[in-house]
Amino acid sequence: MRFKFPFLLLLLALTVSSCVSVQVKDNTVTNVSREIKKPKNIILMIGDGMGLSQVSAAIYYKNGKPNFERFSTIGLSKTSSASDLITDSAAGATVFSTGVKTYNGAIGVNNDTIPVPTIVEQLSKRGLATGIVATSSIQHATPASFYAHVKSRRMYEAITEFAPDSGVNFFAGGGLKFFNQRKDGKDLLAKMEAKGYEVITDKLPQKPSEKNELILLAEDGMPKMSEGRGDFLPNATKLALEKLSQNENGFFLMVEGSQIDWGGHDNDADYLIEELLDFDKTLGVALDFAKQNGETLVIVTADHETGGFTLASDGKDYNKIKPRFSTTGHSGTMVPVFAEGPGASLFNGIYESNEIYHKMMALIGK
Ligand code: MG
Ligand code: ZN
Repeated sequence: MRFKFPFLLLLLALTVSSCVSVQVKDNTVTNVSREIKKPKNIILMIGDGMGLSQVSAAIYYKNGKPNFERFSTIGLSKTSSASDLITDSAAGATVFSTGVKTYNGAIGVNNDTIPVPTIVEQLSKRGLATGIVATSSIQHATPASFYAHVKSRRMYEAITEFAPDSGVNFFAGGGLKFFNQRKDGKDLLAKMEAKGYEVITDKLPQKPSEKNELILLAEDGMPKMSEGRGDFLPNATKLALEKLSQNENGFFLMVEGSQIDWGGHDNDADYLIEELLDFDKTLGVALDFAKQNGETLVIVTADHETGGFTLASDGKDYNKIKPRFSTTGHSGTMVPVFAEGPGASLFNGIYESNEIYHKMMALIGK
């Protein structure tokens, strides 16, 4: 199995450099040989626990057209982890950040608990700006997998210790208590400031700072939409884009709709749908930016599905939807991948979840 990844990478590299695509002109299909255009920037948006039924909820519960419908390229991702048929969010995010399928609970480490460089670390080293935005704490499994390397997702304080030297230029989410109310007594906010970060804990600023930013607006996870989170996610994404796009070498931004998953675990359809619609609104921010910018690839996907969520009929009434759940845990269904912008066509088809990392790196890694 050791030869598998280099082989796939080679295949991918060949695909990128000499792809034959189909062009439609005046209703005539002509085969043309051309290179896939590479993006300068990538926005990776993860709806935690967002399966196809969750996405479909945007159609039935949103006033107006969902932003999901603005994507030209759709794929499906197979989400199993190295340890389990059904992944958790730690292994589920580590595949995107490192390309490695690992065990459930792993944060930025492989199956043998050895740290693997993340896309954020790799691109940051090459001079790209990087950002992480989430509605959970920034130490929660999904965001943590992009900058930390620990053997268990529960090690929130250890995860936080990776932040000062992470190279991440923009953090926004919750998780303040893991910086300043630690069992080991360390003051990591002071350390972040010493490393050149502006620490903001009251509200989302209107304009980006000149410095790197650590924006922590909750002790742990951010409030639910129903508890008044408002437009934090779309606005933090907008602020991140305004900041990161100033970097002439390009940027990588990860944005997570963290609580779609939590609504699924709670089997609370209203919670899930409100979080999903907030995420859909955030897609609009990213797509509007990308459309204007022209050099940005937007990828939207999920780590796994949560809740076995279905848009079932209300008994025999086929004109009424009554959402239901089949589990309070995750499920093994494939999850959708949406892509728009330069390189989007690489995301067509059905593939393993870790291919998303390899596709991103083939497009922006060199
Ligand atoms: Mg998550
Ligand atoms: Zn979950």
